[in-house]
Amino acid sequence: MKNSPSPGRPTDAAANLEDVALRISESRYRRLFETAEDGILLLNADTGQIEDVNPSLVKMLGYSHDEFLNKKLWEVGPFADIAPSKEMFAELQANGYIRHENLPLRTLQGKEIEVEFVCNSYECEGIKVIQCIIRDITERKVAEEKLQLAASVFTHAREGIMITDADGTIIDVNDTFSRITGYCRDEVLGHNLRLFSFAPPDQEYCSAMWQALAEKGHWDGEIWNRHKNGEEYAVMLTISAVREPQGNTRQYVALFSDVTSLKAHERELEHIAHYDALTTLPNRVLLADRLRQAMAQITRRGQQLAVVFLDLDGFKAVNDRHGHEAGDQLLIALAKRIKQTLREGDTLARIGGDEFVAVLPDLADTEAAVSILNRMLVAAAEPVPFGDLTLHVSASLGVTYYPQAEEVDADQLLRQADQAMYQAKLIGKNRFHLFDAALDRSARGYHESLERIRQALNNDEFVLYYQPKVNMRTGEMIGAEALIRWQHPERGLLLPEVFLPLIEQHPLAIKIGEWVINKAMAQMEIWHSAGLNIPVSVNIGAYQLEQADFVKRLREILKKHPAVRPGDLQLEVLESSALEDLSKVTQIIEECRESGVSFALDDFGTGYSSLTYLKRLPVNKLKLDQSFMCDKLDNPDDRALLEGVLSLAVALHRQIIAEGVETVGHGELLLQLGCELAQGFGIARPMPAADFPGWAAAWLPDLAWSSQAALHRQD
Ligand code: C2E
Ligand code: MG
Ligand code: MG
Repeated sequence: MKNSPSPGRPTDAAANLEDVALRISESRYRRLFETAEDGILLLNADTGQIEDVNPSLVKMLGYSHDEFLNKKLWEVGPFADIAPSKEMFAELQANGYIRHENLPLRTLQGKEIEVEFVCNSYECEGIKVIQCIIRDITERKVAEEKLQLAASVFTHAREGIMITDADGTIIDVNDTFSRITGYCRDEVLGHNLRLFSFAPPDQEYCSAMWQALAEKGHWDGEIWNRHKNGEEYAVMLTISAVREPQGNTRQYVALFSDVTSLKAHERELEHIAHYDALTTLPNRVLLADRLRQAMAQITRRGQQLAVVFLDLDGFKAVNDRHGHEAGDQLLIALAKRIKQTLREGDTLARIGGDEFVAVLPDLADTEAAVSILNRMLVAAAEPVPFGDLTLHVSASLGVTYYPQAEEVDADQLLRQADQAMYQAKLIGKNRFHLFDAALDRSARGYHESLERIRQALNNDEFVLYYQPKVNMRTGEMIGAEALIRWQHPERGLLLPEVFLPLIEQHPLAIKIGEWVINKAMAQMEIWHSAGLNIPVSVNIGAYQLEQADFVKRLREILKKHPAVRPGDLQLEVLESSALEDLSKVTQIIEECRESGVSFALDDFGTGYSSLTYLKRLPVNKLKLDQSFMCDKLDNPDDRALLEGVLSLAVALHRQIIAEGVETVGHGELLLQLGCELAQGFGIARPMPAADFPGWAAAWLPDLAWSSQAALHRQD
């Protein structure tokens, strides 16, 4: 190396040889010095003066060769920056060695670098030299930090992380892996991930996963796993393939998080969307689903299924009388009981207030459902205790079968069952009714009839007949009841029972109802101008009465007939419809009364009204239903019943008029019981308006009646 003096004086030849060898060695070491990647610095061991620096150090620190030379170590830029440079040198002198793992330096360009700084002192040819090796470790440090960061992410991630080789052998897992799976690192390393059930549940799902990994390099999905303690848990799993540059998969990295509670929440939401909160039965949405599924399966199996529409009879009354809590408890109890009558595989759904639908699949034939239907009826009719009360309802069932001769869908089946249920109600409730094609045709005809009824109204085919109401004892004619008839061009005179039920719940009922009131009032005007004053009562259907503008429209009709005293118009409402919504009907009656129009309660005695309810209804008259006038009035029980109902009218301070008086005997008995007002075939059949005045002028009561002494019910 430079300035290394030779120690002795050899002979010339030897000296030459030695010289050559020395030069060779010198050049070899110089080369090493010049080309070394690390920076090298030679110092004078006594003074600390820099004697040489190699090109790498020049490059590393940015100072030129000359800027280093002949300066003391602690005088040159980068080293001058480090406060303890001088102390370092002193230490070096004392120990002959120092080592700094990472010494921060600043280059001439101001770049912060970190170096490993190792200095040795040694003697060369009797001269002490210090040699420092300076290695730039800045990049290595950055890489190390990156690695450290990666490691800490791995360790502290909230996701479980698992790294496997290409065969699925586990190479590493993090802490969260252990927390989620229950297996510690040592238990899993070196084992195949399959042992820890980290695989989709079925073959199909599994091959889809491998295909995605092969094609796209990643896959994600949800799988259910088993914890070491045996419990099931759900994870959201993402697997990525780590590939070599040539494309071969070297490793797989799996990230997963525990989504068990999320899944539970999801299930809860699903439950809310598909089940009825009150009874926990499937709701309409799930029913539609199950029905469609069942229909698809039935077709394949060659069997039948039944759809049963169930509507409770008398449920509204329970709600109205005992409150919603009672209604709710009743629904819960009945839902449970009815469900118990079904077989496994049957579905019972609640689709509305007191409406349920059962789907009964796998029936060998239509007969097979009958015993189930009967069990359902019994279950619905059993009393339900509620506090001190016993709640009691029944059910009307409509049944339809699938498959049918014609193609039908799930909605049609439900409509058919609903329609059959409606028939069950009409026939008398607490029973089932089967839907059949013939009935369906008549139901389709229903629309034709509706249309025909509308036509009849436009063509003026309806007429009113009038039936007199009289005082049997005095012979006074007290009024008439207007009764609608259809003068059908082909079928002759039709009674209301033939056509009114068809429009019962149809807006047409209002049109016809208003036609009746108008017609009756016009008739009263005609009679009035002929000097006859005949109060007329008109029947009002529930649908018309329920209309919000009923009173308003009635007033408008009254205005159109100024010649008629509103007090001469009476409206008859059925006991059953009046009690549907007692407070509303009460209000309507009160409002009509303000206009002078009074009310009578029709078919009195047929409803199940309690005394308290009747008392609240502000009606003037009660019309005793004709069923009380049966032949057996000599039977003491029937007689007692009649007496009882009549006393009820007295207790309620209401006038009572008996309907269906067909015989003199009926009249006699009524008179004996203090009831003088009556209407019936025994007095007169309903007649055309034109016949009425003549009849009224001619009528005389039976002698057996007129000879009876006046009697008050109280007597
Ligand atoms: P309702 O209001 O109880 O009318 C009395 C019904 O009993 C009438 O039947 C009448 O003809 C019948 N009747 C009268 N006396 C006797 C008798 O001695 N024996 C028997 N067996 N029957 C007797 P109709 O005219 O067939 O009417 C039946 C029901 O149709 C009425 O019962 C009423 O609820 C309803 N109705 C009649 N006209 C109208 C109307 O214009 N509008 C509405 N909404 N309903 C009406
Ligand atoms: Mg009536
Ligand atoms: Mg009646």
